[in-house]
Amino acid sequence: MIKCDKCGLSKTAINPCVMGEGDRGSGIMLIGEAPGEEEDRASQPFVGRSGILLREAIVELTGTSPAEACYITNTIKCRPPYNELSASTKNAALEACEGYLKREIRKVNPLVIVCLGAVAWNWASGTTGIKKYRGLWKNLELEGKSRSVIATWHPAHVLRYPGAVSDLYSDLKEAFKRVKKGV
Ligand code: URA
Repeated sequence: MIKCDKCGLSKTAINPCVMGEGDRGSGIMLIGEAPGEEEDRASQPFVGRSGILLREAIVELTGTSPAEACYITNTIKCRPPYNELSASTKNAALEACEGYLKREIRKVNPLVIVCLGAVAWNWASGTTGIKKYRGLWKNLELEGKSRSVIATWHPAHVLRYPGAVSDLYSDLKEAFKRVKKGV
């Protein structure tokens, strides 16, 4: 476990620094926003309601467990109080957590990265506008390598707008297809 006090979020989180988990050799990394209440308690990414939706999609699409199919992590590693990120909290956390995420990218060395929602996409691409970019593949230079990156809806968005589930599934399906093919 990492002991981190680089920003204020570590003071309110039960488990500061919820790091990613999964198969480091899978070639594919899914990046979310930040741990929620369940994730903070369990010290595991995506185990609450949106995590269940995401993990079910992975099992359906790959026929294997999420732990074998991919590596799942978050852009921000500590739970924001009430799951709310103000602009200043977000900026401080992004700065504090960037090194951890970069280290995960170097370790996992993914060919394919799926950005779940705007926070991950903004971090990876430096661009804003998840609606504009969702479903589009980009080759992005991240940690010294060009990687195939897509932005898709965050599972929490899909819980709010169930019509978006087909986009999430088709983006994930293509992502797993690409990694199987070696891109
Ligand atoms: N939302 C995220 O972005 N990450 C999690 O781990 C859980 C919910």
